[in-house]
Amino acid sequence: MKKKKLFFALFTATLSSFLGGCGMFDSSSSEDAEVDPLSGLPFSAYPNDAAVNDSANAYLATGLMLTVHPGASYTISFDADSNYDSPKLQLYRLKFPTDSTYTYRQIRNISAKEVDGKWVYTFDCSENDRAYWATTLLGDDGSYYRGKVSGFSFKGVGAYDSHLSLNLIVAGSYGGTSDSVSLDSLSKMILEGFRSALSGGGIIVDTLYLHHASERTDLATSYPDNKQWQAGKSSDDMFLTELGGWPDSLGEKGIYYALDLILVHRIESAGVLGYSILFGGSLGGGTGSTVVIGTQYYTISPLIEYPQKASEIVATTVHESGHFLGLRHTTSTMADMESSGDFSNKEDGLDDTPYCSDYLPFTASSSTLVKRSDVRFLPMPRLVLSKSLSSCPDASNPMFPSAVDVESTGFTVEQKALAKATLELYKH
Ligand SMILES: [Zn+2]
Repeated sequence: MKKKKLFFALFTATLSSFLGGCGMFDSSSSEDAEVDPLSGLPFSAYPNDAAVNDSANAYLATGLMLTVHPGASYTISFDADSNYDSPKLQLYRLKFPTDSTYTYRQIRNISAKEVDGKWVYTFDCSENDRAYWATTLLGDDGSYYRGKVSGFSFKGVGAYDSHLSLNLIVAGSYGGTSDSVSLDSLSKMILEGFRSALSGGGIIVDTLYLHHASERTDLATSYPDNKQWQAGKSSDDMFLTELGGWPDSLGEKGIYYALDLILVHRIESAGVLGYSILFGGSLGGGTGSTVVIGTQYYTISPLIEYPQKASEIVATTVHESGHFLGLRHTTSTMADMESSGDFSNKEDGLDDTPYCSDYLPFTASSSTLVKRSDVRFLPMPRLVLSKSLSSCPDASNPMFPSAVDVESTGFTVEQKALAKATLELYKH
């Protein structure tokens, strides 16, 4: 088997972990050329994402990153180009010896089936945990497919159930709310907020476990109960990742795989109420497993700490958890597009969520793609904006990008279906 490496010689250290992964080659692979993913992998695709994703069409042939989950079944398809024979989809498994380097090895070589004018490729993920793969398309001349790629679609069907529990983990002292709601009452409100927003969509929110980070004497960082925790300042890791994957020491099996909501006193960045990673990808610890929310926030100008009502904290918690479950903003912010590098994704692509054309000065011009260096983790902060946006048609949706004083109407049918499909992909 061929071994590949990028950058420099960290490959040998990871050889053993490669051999433990997905080693399933298509039987015809030995006869085929390989077209390796080109360096950088500047764009990523998420299963069941309905956004436009020009980047996926543009990079499927030469290197598009995929996040995949254990036991899931996937389908990639795109419009057949009648000027070409169908290419083979080559899949590569990525390893990240450091945050900024990766190595890769081919694990699949898949022929297309033509269905209704589309070339369709199906594959399973035999990983034990969340993993990162990359695509290329092999043309019949033995090099990268040169036909047109349009209408890209990436579907995933997960292997897990649709039950979700929550860990509310208080880091440092509880900051309270402007309407004097106790921590116990806030916990109940968060649980009810989840159940209400997801109602009727098939996700069953079982329970919420309340913890204090000070209980975790096993961690590198200590979280004393008498200290106000400021995410982004009190420790280096603004996501407090080490608190993800809460131990099941009490024998309650649901705790480890519950969604880890970290409640801090304040997030250090001005105007930020909370953040998570889009399609965070992990229940049970690791990067992307934590959702961070502040009870207070910094106003943007002047810089003043401002307490929130309990209902506002609940709204941010539901919003950020929506990102974790694969939901984009109903209307993208410029920051969303800049961090992903794909300016075609002006909205979430769902048919039943309206879009606010007043939100940002978008033009009708064709989209652009800007290469990014790390697309595995897209942080999604929720902001307080000075401009009033309450007249936007999507202002009442939980995934509206900024906090507005409009009563939430909960997730739409399509948002609930996407969140459920994402939850079923995540190992739990
Ligand atoms: Zn957001």
